[in-house]
Amino acid sequence: MAHIVIIGAGIGGMPAAYELREKLDKTHKITVVGAADYFQFVPSNPWIAVGWRKRDEITFRIAPYLEKHGIAFIASPLDTLDAAGQRVFLRDGTVLDYDFLVLTTGPRLAFDEVEGAGPIAGHTQSICTVDHAEKLHAAYEQFLAEPGPVVVGAMPGASCFGPAYEYAFILNADLKKRKLRHKVPMTFVSSEPYIGHLGLGGVGDSKTMLESEFRSHDIKWICNARVTRVEAGQMHVNELDGQGNLLREHTLPFKLSMMLPAFKGIEPLGAVDGLCNPRGFVLIDEHQRNPKYPQIYAAGVCVSIPPVEVTPVPTGAPKTGYMIETMVSAIVQNIAAELAGDEPQAKGSWNAICLADMGDVGAAFVALPQLPPRNVNWFAKGKWVHMAKIAFEKYFLHKMKAGSSEPIYEKYVLKALGIERLDH
Ligand SMILES: Cc1cc2nc3c(=O)[nH]c(=O)nc-3n(C[C@H](O)[C@H](O)[C@H](O)COP(=O)(O)OP(=O)(O)OC[C@H]3O[C@@H](n4cnc5c(N)ncnc54)[C@H](O)[C@@H]3O)c2cc1C
Repeated sequence: MAHIVIIGAGIGGMPAAYELREKLDKTHKITVVGAADYFQFVPSNPWIAVGWRKRDEITFRIAPYLEKHGIAFIASPLDTLDAAGQRVFLRDGTVLDYDFLVLTTGPRLAFDEVEGAGPIAGHTQSICTVDHAEKLHAAYEQFLAEPGPVVVGAMPGASCFGPAYEYAFILNADLKKRKLRHKVPMTFVSSEPYIGHLGLGGVGDSKTMLESEFRSHDIKWICNARVTRVEAGQMHVNELDGQGNLLREHTLPFKLSMMLPAFKGIEPLGAVDGLCNPRGFVLIDEHQRNPKYPQIYAAGVCVSIPPVEVTPVPTGAPKTGYMIETMVSAIVQNIAAELAGDEPQAKGSWNAICLADMGDVGAAFVALPQLPPRNVNWFAKGKWVHMAKIAFEKYFLHKMKAGSSEPIYEKYVLKALGIERLDH
């Protein structure tokens, strides 16, 4: 009997648990460890921030669902990982020995890299967690009584740009519904070298399309933006040229600001010798396995993948749903192979497929492979994307409660788009 421990109960960890349970013999034990006792559907956070969703619509208590499917669950953060001894120590004092460890711990939000940033100790809001999105919603309700300038965007080193665009467009749509948009000058401030870069070197005609959307919705932008400091109601931004030289200094006043931070890996993993890169992201081989500690697999935002290209202000490559789904499936196949005495063969797919909501319409992009030049390089806009995103939310939440391991992207999204899976 093997014990497989999964650390992280999010978009990667929960499907990993169900897929392992389905594929492995019942004699093997599976334990999931989460920092909190609830699951949150992170992609819906921009809707929470404007009050289009309530917390209980996108969260649920994890334990009853996992336990119903024969999976143990412990809600206590990982404190220390003894990778050589194959043992994890949790904050509540629990000690777990494992045969295989699956890391799906997502990001550590590096607000501390910009003075004055972040919703706890700083002056900018966030949508990275449901708690942050609720805090932003509370700030938004106050803002509505006395509207003013808004700054939305992404900090230096950010990799997850899609949600910043989503929030900008959703906020724009919500303000229009309230007939308040004319009182709110909006500026999008991003470390991307150009609008629509998305950490991917652009996808199809994303630059032209997103610039055009910003123009049609009166959203100004500053790219190659290095936010240096945030004070109450004021953001200091250095705009760089293509060579990385200072082009302009901006001081942007704001009444409300949502800035996505750079991501790092969580501290207990970064502390393990040889497990992570300098930013704390888990090093993996093509089979999702750590080269130094082969009993450790990792998937999702916590893994180390290189940026698509060097940019004047640092940016990273996003790790999105389809990529995470294929990483998880590869891990499950590889652990099953190892338990059967075989070598891991399965590989994840470093491809980006994303649905971004824009309030009433949406934008979809497909980058296969993630690094240009690509076989599929497609970006499109339409009402159908808005509907598809809602359907995706409902289906994912249903799947997480039902214990289904059905791969959503592989089964529905790729099929709907008429795309064959292409590996990196
Ligand atoms: C606001 C936002 C919107 C996004 N929207 C989309 C989208 O529409 N489509 C898309 O494809 N991608 C989207 N993404 C990107 C990506 O899909 C998500 O970030 C996704 O949640 C990543 O999954 P994950 O499993 O790697 O991390 P998460 O879902 O963040 O899960 C991490 C888990 O690890 C746990 N954890 C953290 N620290 C510890 C610890 N010390 N001990 C134990 N557990 C710990 C957390 O509690 C959580 O359960 C979005 C990202 C953000 C931030």
